[in-house]
Amino acid sequence: MMSDTPKRKITPPTVTPETAEFWKAAGEGRFLLRRCTACHETHWYPRAICPFCLGDTAWEETAGTGTIYSWTVMRRAPEPYAMAFVTLDAGPTMLADLVDVDLDGLAIGHTVRLVWSPTDGGPPVPSFTLS
Ligand SMILES: [Zn+2]
Repeated sequence: MMSDTPKRKITPPTVTPETAEFWKAAGEGRFLLRRCTACHETHWYPRAICPFCLGDTAWEETAGTGTIYSWTVMRRAPEPYAMAFVTLDAGPTMLADLVDVDLDGLAIGHTVRLVWSPTDGGPPVPSFTLS
């Protein structure tokens, strides 16, 4: 099943002081991750303190490309949709919707790219589609 845009309403994200810069960039179509200034690992979700070594972190713009680690199709929703754990080329794995995809044609290892899904009155949220 193909669709141009997600049909279900997406609740706007909660913007906190720690994530405000991320959501501001999201509104401009830029995807930011935090990278540790000590061990140089990236992580998801954005945190001021590195979850690996407790070092300081800094924003870094990334391309938002990655690979499906695993996925599921929510078939009991009013309109079925897919969600996936996507391992970003930049390092971390994140959970997000898959949009504009054939729900019966998904597979682990498919390459994906980030697209922004509008929310109900807030900044857009990261989603992915097949690349
Ligand atoms: Zn670190």
